[in-house]
Amino acid sequence: MRDIQQLPFENAQGIRFVLMDIDDTITTEGKLPAIAYEALWKLHEAGLKVVPITGRPAGWCDLIARQWPVDGVVGENGALVYWQEGSHVLRLYHEHAVSNEHEVLRRIEQRCLAEVPGCRVAGDQFCRRFDLAIDFAEEEPVLTLKEAQLIKDICEQEGACAKISSIHVNTWMGQYDKLGMAARFLATRFGYDDAMDRDQVMFFGDSPNDEPMFTHFGQSVGVASVIRYRHLIKHLPSYVTKLGGGEGFAEGVEVLLAKR
Ligand SMILES: [Mg+2]
Repeated sequence: MRDIQQLPFENAQGIRFVLMDIDDTITTEGKLPAIAYEALWKLHEAGLKVVPITGRPAGWCDLIARQWPVDGVVGENGALVYWQEGSHVLRLYHEHAVSNEHEVLRRIEQRCLAEVPGCRVAGDQFCRRFDLAIDFAEEEPVLTLKEAQLIKDICEQEGACAKISSIHVNTWMGQYDKLGMAARFLATRFGYDDAMDRDQVMFFGDSPNDEPMFTHFGQSVGVASVIRYRHLIKHLPSYVTKLGGGEGFAEGVEVLLAKR
């Protein structure tokens, strides 16, 4: 990983899309700092296409699509993308997305609560349509990554997909992911060509569940906290910021915009 300051001018000038994880990438200790929200506005005002890519729920994505300075938002780990055209919010759902009323998810919920003491259904579950989120670190008590792995194992034993984020284990039925939905949205909405245009995308992330995006897109940036997970990530981002969380995101955005 190179310091983001070493981003070449010609790479910065080629960027058309800026994608970012939300939790612990643009937030710091659970809050969206003013400087990170301002950075989103600066990207938007510079004419770049801004698209958060998150495991957060459909209900949150409706708000983000309407009120944040973004061109779309991929939510629930790739089950959906919401974006605004005029006064309308448009919604695209992955054809493999299955309602989270599914009996397998009910069984997973019961098993996790019984077999991993202290874990709980995430507080934002009522806003979700397709996935079940088990909270291990957003609220107290904070459990270890080892316990998160136990939760993930239960999900996979029951035949569901599962990903560990910095706060939740998300689990769902149906084959889809953040990367596939992000590339599909850029292609259908903005004419992006995933075979040719990967260098036009800068992606910001912080943790192992961002690795597929770090690998795929030409210009990937880890906020400083990514160093904590170094041993868990095979394909590290191309660049790293000095600061962590939302402050690190703002630092990266400053460099990108200054070099354009
Ligand atoms: Mg994150």
